[in-house]
Amino acid sequence: MKHIVLAAVALFAAACATPAPEQAVAELAIVGAKVYPAPGVAPMTDATVIVRDGVIAQVGPTSAVRASAAAQVIDGRGLTVVAGLWNSHVHFFSPTLFQPPETNAKALAGEVEAMLTRWGFTSVFDIASLPGQVTGLRKRIYAGEIPGPNILTVDAPIFPLNGTPIYARELLKGQPSFEVSDPAVATKRAREQIAAGADGVKIFAGAIVGPPQGVLPMPLDIAKAASAEAHRHGKPVFAHPSNRAGLDVAIDGEADILAHTTADDGQAWTPELVARLKAHKMALIPTLTLWDVELRRDKAPETVIKAFIAVAQGQLKTYADAGGEILFGTDVGYIDVFDTTQEYRLMSEAGLSFDQILGSLTTAPSARFGFSKKGKVAAGMDGDLAILSADPAADITAFAKVAYTIRAGEVIYAVKK
Ligand SMILES: [Zn+2]
Repeated sequence: MKHIVLAAVALFAAACATPAPEQAVAELAIVGAKVYPAPGVAPMTDATVIVRDGVIAQVGPTSAVRASAAAQVIDGRGLTVVAGLWNSHVHFFSPTLFQPPETNAKALAGEVEAMLTRWGFTSVFDIASLPGQVTGLRKRIYAGEIPGPNILTVDAPIFPLNGTPIYARELLKGQPSFEVSDPAVATKRAREQIAAGADGVKIFAGAIVGPPQGVLPMPLDIAKAASAEAHRHGKPVFAHPSNRAGLDVAIDGEADILAHTTADDGQAWTPELVARLKAHKMALIPTLTLWDVELRRDKAPETVIKAFIAVAQGQLKTYADAGGEILFGTDVGYIDVFDTTQEYRLMSEAGLSFDQILGSLTTAPSARFGFSKKGKVAAGMDGDLAILSADPAADITAFAKVAYTIRAGEVIYAVKK
């Protein structure tokens, strides 16, 4: 008996000692907001969203939906609710990751917020990092130690032989080489990384190696081997194309997602190229802000920057108009511009509609990466939401004006009042 009592006391103490942060709040209600359920679906005004045990339980007119007395309530009046946003091109290279885990939780939490959750991201795809670092970070997020988004990762990238990108050499000093010299090694690398928890593979179809070569294309048999192994495990392949030759390797090497446009060539995408990309069901991540950041760093004249971005915007618009899949992504973590305002403005200026941009942030990545319960604000979907302080249909940059970020019914970011 004494043992049972002690055990019960211990259980009670354990329950008290591990309170809420990692558990979804039992019920969260956002009351009186404007809700965009999904791209192409009419918004609901004065709507209430109830999230119970991490899942959206109800979405409807505030007059018809009642939260329970115990619910955590967010006053949604004047706010706009969309499904939790995806950033499909991020990196985690923070030096904080190298500090001992006992001491870096607070700093990491700050970085994850500044880079991701503060901008409404509830899901991100890391598409190249150092071995094991991102799987380690997400374990800590999922355990509730650090508030953060749902994280997918390709783990380490695959470079062609002598193809470590010029801009990554300093960063990768002291690391094992990620260059691959033959198809068998590519297969092995992809297999081992997926076995260790990677959710995809990243190939440098065109690696920027600097003068005199410029862009080094990956041998096609290596690209094909990496892709085949990823696909054997049902995982997507991201390709860094750089230019037209790299784009050909990405397409013929059976990659699934272009990590960037290919404005380096200064050429528009032809109807033939678009048809090939579409036939391969290729998705495109625009990363338009990246070009601005890089060209400014290189002190390019304003006219050059404008012309370069116009080419990238043209490629994006051409592909979107043809019905090509667009995934929102910024390369944040490689660039230190965390604010997404400029990316939304550039996508909108390229001619993408509100619905197309919303789709690139929600439904498209959810479908592409196999999350049937994410991407929409509807009963039965995961309780992943971005709550905005303005309406992005009226001003596209409102996607960056985030009041709350909610993952599985838990507030992982709230704007400081
Ligand atoms: Zn990147």
